[in-house]
Amino acid sequence: MNNVFVYLEIEDSIVSEVSLELLTKGHALADRLGVQLEAIAAGYKLENVGNQVFPFGVDILHIADDKRLSPYTSLPHTSLLVNLFKQQQPQIALMGATSVGRDLGPRVSSALFSGLTADCTALEIGDYEDKKNNKTYRDLLYQIRPAFGGNIVATIVNPDCRPQMATVRQGVMKKEIRDQNFKGETRYLDLTKFVSDTDFVIEVIERHMEKSKVNLGGASIVVSGGYGVGSAENFKLLYELAAVIGAEVGASRAAVDAGFAEHERQVGQTGVTVRPKLYIACGISGQIQHIAGMQESALIISINSDPSAPINAIADYVITGTIEEIIPKLIKYYKKNSK
Ligand code: FAD
Repeated sequence: MNNVFVYLEIEDSIVSEVSLELLTKGHALADRLGVQLEAIAAGYKLENVGNQVFPFGVDILHIADDKRLSPYTSLPHTSLLVNLFKQQQPQIALMGATSVGRDLGPRVSSALFSGLTADCTALEIGDYEDKKNNKTYRDLLYQIRPAFGGNIVATIVNPDCRPQMATVRQGVMKKEIRDQNFKGETRYLDLTKFVSDTDFVIEVIERHMEKSKVNLGGASIVVSGGYGVGSAENFKLLYELAAVIGAEVGASRAAVDAGFAEHERQVGQTGVTVRPKLYIACGISGQIQHIAGMQESALIISINSDPSAPINAIADYVITGTIEEIIPKLIKYYKKNSK
């Protein structure tokens, strides 16, 4: 009762990265509250899910294993969560801000009248003083996210309704194994108690999945280009540098909007969140919406013609100059000095 729950997204029996990141955060929240961490796996052929999630400190794993639950469809997964939450009364429920989480989260929260904050960038526990009603709420979930076009960072609380629900995008939270040998308890759910036959009205007959060719989230070096790169032609310099140093190419939204790079390369609040070992920002000014997606990078190099570009304030190294001048030199000297 009143534990922290994480909904696991599963594809081909593999738990997604965002779910593992949320388990890490969920465990920290549960620790802070002195409660347990529970996870829900709904799908088919889930016998290996426990091995994947117990190292993240899951105390109780609820499994609903049924052929009809995979691939994801809205109605059965919603009914499962709504009825499980009615029974288990979690105080916090987390899921990925993915296409599944964006469909499932609002359905569950509206059925439970609980409220939900989408695309949180941080989650913390804290108190809230309702001055109007002279009431103090202890240990609420602070659901923190940019608001009003990124101009403010809002902390949203949900004092009275439960569960406190939030979605978080992949890469925002850090994934960390707690104990490789930890084993929690597995509870197999009797599906008939949670989902009715009418929930299976939609059957997925065929699926065509195209895997993304861009792996920004998993890259240890990202070379990112902004509007200052100037053209799609100039972006080729970035690809050249990336090939030489083993990096993936990212872009700012202005560069994507200008047609210099594909949307799947966009880093930032409305793109991908990255935390590579090295982030090279080329011709990027460093607006808050961009920084939100890369500020956790271990090392940041900024290449910009403007020495007072805002990104320089968070960069570890700043190279003042134009892309056209600096990038060919980087390529030349890297090639010369490696090997
Ligand atoms: P600019 O701000 O135009 O900066 C260009 C930079 O290039 C300047 O610093 C300039 O000095 C430098 N420069 C110019 N010429 C050269 C040269 N030859 N060599 C080197 N440097 C040069 N943005 C994102 O990136 N990601 C997001 O996810 C995102 N989401 C958003 C969501 C919302 C709701 C809103 C309102 C905005 C969002 N934005 C996002 C847009 C963001 O506010 C900025 O407009 C955008 O990040 C600016 O991109 P930029 O830095 O490439 O371009």
